[in-house]
Amino acid sequence: MASPAWHYVLKFIITGDAAVGKSSLLVRLTDQRFLANPDPTLGVEFGSKLLTLPGPEGTVVKLQCWDTAGTESFRSITRSYYRGAAGALIVYDVTSRRSFDNARAWLADVRAHADAQVSCILVGNKADLVEGDESRRQVPTETAALFAQEEGLLFAETSAKNGDGVDSAFVSAAESVIRKV
Ligand code: GDP
Repeated sequence: MASPAWHYVLKFIITGDAAVGKSSLLVRLTDQRFLANPDPTLGVEFGSKLLTLPGPEGTVVKLQCWDTAGTESFRSITRSYYRGAAGALIVYDVTSRRSFDNARAWLADVRAHADAQVSCILVGNKADLVEGDESRRQVPTETAALFAQEEGLLFAETSAKNGDGVDSAFVSAAESVIRKV
């Protein structure tokens, strides 16, 4: 019998302040592209991607990723968005302290509305903007890593622009979900 195309289907949600790069992360993950000027009112809402997890089992997961697609500005995210999510990316922009401070509120939202066993990963996006120019950085890596550790979150810095860290962030979150199954 042919082996199945995937072993698990996981719903992931992407939360965080407007303009931190949520849609761009989704486009990068599913389409290996970057849009310099995406239309903020036409956020990508959904993307699906097969990921093979490292390890001898070669476990394949189908990620079904949902982006808030602009509704975060209106704080109108509904409960159904969170329902059934296995993983949650809480995204901030490494050049915006405010977006990092707000990550705490996004985490509280996830914890209030998602299932208790949801795996969360804190993602510091736009890392390309501080490469070779740390003066633009408003959120030290250590500060974010410590917050993640205190809250029991995975942590990664990413660039949707050049792709650095993006796949591995989703892979580590998916691995954490699978470990709980
Ligand atoms: P969202 O509102 O959180 O979905 O953010 P978008 O994906 O719409 O991105 C907001 C802006 O930041 C856009 O102009 C993107 O091109 C830009 N952007 C997103 N990710 C990155 C990144 O990793 N690096 C850089 N330099 N710009 C980014």
